[in-house]
Amino acid sequence: MPSRTPYIAANWKMHKTVAEAGEFVDALLPQIAATQSDVVICPPFTALTPVVERRYGTAVKVAAQNMHEEDSGAFTGEVSAAMLAELDVEAVVLGHSERRQLFGETDEALARKVPAALAAGLEPILCVGETEEARDAERTKAVLERQLQADLAEVEDAKLSGVVIAYEPIWAIGTGRTATPEQAQEACAFIRDVLRERGAAADDVRILYGGSVKPANAAELLGQPDIDGALVGGASLDPGDFAAIVKAAG
Ligand code: PEP
Repeated sequence: MPSRTPYIAANWKMHKTVAEAGEFVDALLPQIAATQSDVVICPPFTALTPVVERRYGTAVKVAAQNMHEEDSGAFTGEVSAAMLAELDVEAVVLGHSERRQLFGETDEALARKVPAALAAGLEPILCVGETEEARDAERTKAVLERQLQADLAEVEDAKLSGVVIAYEPIWAIGTGRTATPEQAQEACAFIRDVLRERGAAADDVRILYGGSVKPANAAELLGQPDIDGALVGGASLDPGDFAAIVKAAG
C-alpha cells in the first residue's frame, strides 16, 4: 500500500490581519503538537511573514494563495515565486476557483505558474474542480482531465509527484454543501489515474479534497483511499475547528 503523509491546508482567503494571524497560530500550535500530518497555513500575503516566524521549529508549513508566473516585471499588484521563497514560504495555492472565476486566472497562466513555483522550490497546491452545471451534465471527469492536462503541461513527469492536487468541486466551496465521500473518492481516484497516464509516480502524489470540510465530516472524507488530505476554507478560520480537522487525519 502506498503511504502518503496526510496534508491538511488552511486557506484563509482574504481573512485575518497580522494580529489575528498571530493569535490563530498561538492557539493552534499546542493543539496539533502531536500530529504526524503536514499542516499548511495559507494566509494573505500581508500575514505570511508573521506566520512563518511563529511556526519556526514546528511541523507547520506556510503557503501563499497566489503568485505570478514571471520572475519580475511590470505587473502591478503581483508577487513572484522567488519573492515568496525568500520569505521561507514553502508552498503556493494555484488555480483556486475563486481566482479562476473572479480574477480571470487561465489554464494558460497556470501552465506557467506550476513550473515556476517548482523551479523556485515552492510546492504547488493546484486546485481543480467542476461547476454544478458540469456535474449535472456528467462532465466532471472531462473537466478534471482538461484542467490537469492543461495546467501540468509544462511539468516534467519526474516532477509531478512534487505537485499537490486539490479536488475542489465549485458547488461545494463555501456553500456548506459537501461532496459525499463517494463522490470525492471517485473524483480523487480519477485524478490519480490521469496523473498516472501523464507519467507521474501517481501513488506518491497527495490529492486533497476541498469543499465545506468541517470537523463533523472530515474523518469520513479523509478515510477514503485516494483522499490524502483537505484544503479547508471557512472551518480553517477557527483554530479549534481546524485543529479538529488536523486530528481527524491522524
Ligand atoms: C476553499 O476555499 O478552498 C474551500 C474549500 O472553502 P470552504 O471549506 O469554505 O468550502
